[in-house]
Amino acid sequence: MPIHFIPNDPLVQNDFPMRVVKPRADRGAGKAKLSVQGAVAEGEYPVGTPEFLYWQCREAALASIAAWEEISGNFSRWQVGDTLKVLPDRGEDLNAYYDRLGLNFFRQKIASKTYFSGASTDVVAHEAGHAFLDAIRPDLWDSSRFEVNAFHEAFGDCVAIITALQDKESRVAILSKISSSNSVEALAEEISEAISKAVPGINAAAPRRARNDFEWGPQGSLPTDGGPGKLIFEEHSFGQIFSGCFYDTIVNIFSGMASQTEGNLLAATQIAGKLLVKGIQSAPQRMEFFREVGRFMILADGQDNGGANRAAVSDAFQRHNLALGSSITLAPSAAFAATAATSGATKKKGIQNATDADMTTTAKRELRGLIGAVSNKLSISKIKLAGREMQEAIHQRIVSLDACHKKLEGVVASAAQVALVGRSHNALCVMGHVSNPINTDKDVINYVDSLVKHGRISFESSKTAGRSMVASLKDLPSGITHQVRDVRGQKTLLRVRFACS
Ligand SMILES: [Zn+2]
Repeated sequence: MPIHFIPNDPLVQNDFPMRVVKPRADRGAGKAKLSVQGAVAEGEYPVGTPEFLYWQCREAALASIAAWEEISGNFSRWQVGDTLKVLPDRGEDLNAYYDRLGLNFFRQKIASKTYFSGASTDVVAHEAGHAFLDAIRPDLWDSSRFEVNAFHEAFGDCVAIITALQDKESRVAILSKISSSNSVEALAEEISEAISKAVPGINAAAPRRARNDFEWGPQGSLPTDGGPGKLIFEEHSFGQIFSGCFYDTIVNIFSGMASQTEGNLLAATQIAGKLLVKGIQSAPQRMEFFREVGRFMILADGQDNGGANRAAVSDAFQRHNLALGSSITLAPSAAFAATAATSGATKKKGIQNATDADMTTTAKRELRGLIGAVSNKLSISKIKLAGREMQEAIHQRIVSLDACHKKLEGVVASAAQVALVGRSHNALCVMGHVSNPINTDKDVINYVDSLVKHGRISFESSKTAGRSMVASLKDLPSGITHQVRDVRGQKTLLRVRFACS
């Protein structure tokens, strides 16, 4: 039997009206699956009923996965297993979150209207986006780098945009407005309306937008708070810089096509989406992560498309004050003196691969000195980037949070310092920039300051030790994203969920 489905956001049904559709099939063997709570028989239920919400939320989640598979291939496993829970209505709140256990949505009555975050395909796709990214880059979950976390939020918005543009009727509806303000680049309109009524004047009281003029700036150059829709130093808001780069990449690729048809808009979306996937699969966790992902999108385009979209990507990032200069990201920047003359009689020119054998004890010691590592722990693995084999060395820097808040005295957070190692002219070299200790400390402290400012931290140390995710999450207010936990006797600030109001 058919069901009712709102393909975008409930508030923009003038552009994208509710439809009657045949529900998508359950996902089969070899595919990542959903367990949607509250199953009811198929039917055309009225908006606002639990029955409608079940089918709406399920259809939106499955549409997101279908869009994701178009750009990333078969999706077979979530970060924590082959099935992810979806909870369309967890109770009263103005929120939605992903916590590795599931996608969680809420309802809130304001005046005479009840708002359901799980009824918005935008919101469902955004939360699913966190889960997709977590499946391919689980290392980003516990990152204490500001721009990595802002990227996670941006990625959710990018997935919502890709999901919207995967839908043919939506592409037709939006075709003439793709380069200007429209209901695809604007996200989660209805929940933003609810927030504007419940807490007028706050930053989240306006929809996030991907067709924006926001310009990237270094940490310290933006205020930590501001009115509805202003660009501030907060991960959801700042993430609009990256979603802006991504949306503009779609527009630029589409504008360069022979004809501006809905079919070509789909093709442009998928080209940009595939570059985004390749970019994030490769980008090391270094400072200025937006730029890092952009550079690897350019390198992926060079490998996969002969560089056909180089200008489209670089112009999009430049529009948001992110000059890419992709070649510099893998260029040799510092040679190890200890390795300069040890490669035997055969002197080689130019850049070569670095091998496991190159990472001698002496080389590791020198590398630790270069990145300012304070412990001997250096995780080294082979990595292939832009067709070149190199070594990726990761040091987890432990940063004291004493200065952030009196309740964080004695608490630490960790941040990855990443160095890529290759060879040039027979010397072992760091390739591209390294995450130096001073900037890493500053990055973490600025990020935690922003979490404190926006009330995202539960300061009470969890009774559940370590990194177990099955910790008393249901007892935490849903706006909380981080909690102090005991990790082998050290109080450590850890992420518990991505919350999105
Ligand atoms: Zn989010």
